Amino acid sequence: MNNLFRELKQLDNKGYKAYKSIQGHFQFDDFELYIDYVQGDPFATPSKIRIVISNEKRTIQSAWLGSPKRKVAAEDAFARAVGNAVAGERFAVKGSGKSGMILFDMPGQEVMERTALQINQEAITVCISVGLPANGRRINGREAEKLFSEIIPSIIKKSIFKIKDEDINHAIILADQQETIRNEMTKNNWIAFVANGSILPRESGISNRPLRKAVPFQSPKETEVTISIPHQEEALTGMAIKKGITLIVGGGYHGKSTILKAVERGVYFHKKGDGREFVITDPDAVKVRAEDGRQISSVNISPFINNLPHLQTTDSFSTENASGSTSQAANVMEALETGATTLLIDEDTSATNFMIRDHRMQQLVKQDKEPITPFIDRIRQLSNQLDVSTILVMGGSGDYFSVADTVIMMDEYFPHDVTDKAKTIMQEFPIERETKSKADFGQIINRTFQQQSLQLDKGNRTKIQTKGLHQIILGRTDISFNYTEQLVDISQTRMIAEIIHHLHRTNGLQNKSLRDVLHTIEKQMDQAGLSSLTTFKEKHPGDLARPRRHEIAAVLNRMRTARVN
Ligand code: ADP
Ligand code: MG
Repeated sequence: MNNLFRELKQLDNKGYKAYKSIQGHFQFDDFELYIDYVQGDPFATPSKIRIVISNEKRTIQSAWLGSPKRKVAAEDAFARAVGNAVAGERFAVKGSGKSGMILFDMPGQEVMERTALQINQEAITVCISVGLPANGRRINGREAEKLFSEIIPSIIKKSIFKIKDEDINHAIILADQQETIRNEMTKNNWIAFVANGSILPRESGISNRPLRKAVPFQSPKETEVTISIPHQEEALTGMAIKKGITLIVGGGYHGKSTILKAVERGVYFHKKGDGREFVITDPDAVKVRAEDGRQISSVNISPFINNLPHLQTTDSFSTENASGSTSQAANVMEALETGATTLLIDEDTSATNFMIRDHRMQQLVKQDKEPITPFIDRIRQLSNQLDVSTILVMGGSGDYFSVADTVIMMDEYFPHDVTDKAKTIMQEFPIERETKSKADFGQIINRTFQQQSLQLDKGNRTKIQTKGLHQIILGRTDISFNYTEQLVDISQTRMIAEIIHHLHRTNGLQNKSLRDVLHTIEKQMDQAGLSSLTTFKEKHPGDLARPRRHEIAAVLNRMRTARVN
């Protein structure tokens, strides 16, 4: 009999703390079990276990490790199988408090690099959390034995040993195809691709699943392109959005925000059946919106805002309570700082005075009394001088016709290319609005945060904790980032918290520009994996997913304790 079971028999009915003795390594028939962390009581964060299945028991094909994207896809496919098996055993083990719970960090609609399940040439490692069973506050040895002798082996049997190579290969094929599209896009200077037949709308405002009975996407002829993809004879057709300025117009409720949202999420790859498998976007596309009330720390917003009443210079602008327009200006400048190459903007979430200032208003309020240079007067410079494209949803103002390269009109969920029509209208109804600024866009800032920005101390403890998708508690202060819309998975939030903790431990901000800090972090994630940035080291890093550098920066930028050199 396994040592573990003997030990559990002896522990039965003892005080919960006695469970600590089962921390360690145990050999099973088909796998090895590591109990990395044992919770202190039945109500605490569940215990962390790892199950390691060697390549001899479950072969890992070397093709699955053929590229980083392939590895992520294979891990994702295995992880979904484990997640489903865990869900099937949800009520199998009984216990008080959180005891008896079995948790696995199941992927959502996106396929992203995660830590819950990892594969390499030697083995598959599965990270699961379990509430060790209790009666009240006493150890329930029998349920614990059932957990380890029946339930965990059954989960592994129903997932790792059941999923066919063919199923993993399907995931690999999709990843190859998605990567091919992305490479084609780079070659052709396209910033977004939406395949015909894609399903863009979601089930609801709180669900990321496809809407049933949606109208499938169909590209206008003018913007339609064809891409050959591997593992499939038939080429893909769909709409390509070129670098430059693309305006999406159309009546209210005709699907403008829906297409922009899909493009926003296209920075991630999606799983088969999502409807957005072949909606692919420039990986450095950043959604920019108004966010009044946010903290801003020494951001150069002067391309957009100048001569504020009383005081403030705007080339290093700080506030604890930004307005709609200053927040959106800061969001643009920060996106550029972290290397955004495409900006995504929706009128629904923009500050009107940041976006437009029409001719009549220019007559009433003289230029020198208006601090704002609206986005319309900078959008061409962004494209021409900085090679930063914009996709903009704007149903409410035709002023943008004059700066757009392409105008797409949504009509009952169908896009039409109306670029020529818009040009004709411009000639028929000319507008005399003056461009506010003729000066160049100027240099993009690259700030250096002081190390002491990271105040993680609370009493004599270091504290960092995530609370949902959009909040991290750092020492005594909260960082909220409710409007960081391209952060999609709470495991990414946990990883950002781990990164902040890492920067704290290693003095990672010291004398380094923000861009360098992010570069260092990304390089480490590439070379040594996400868990290398955590204190879990070789042990259970179980519930982390990779954030983009734009979202890591978004969190740092919203710290109310931030100090910039
Ligand atoms: P707009 O931004 O143009 O006002 P939205 O994009 O918000 O419009 O879409 C309005 C509604 O139509 C939403 O409820 C959305 O889910 C739905 N919708 C969008 N695209 C489709 C589609 N292709 N098929 C079915 N419903 C859709
Ligand atoms: Mg809308």
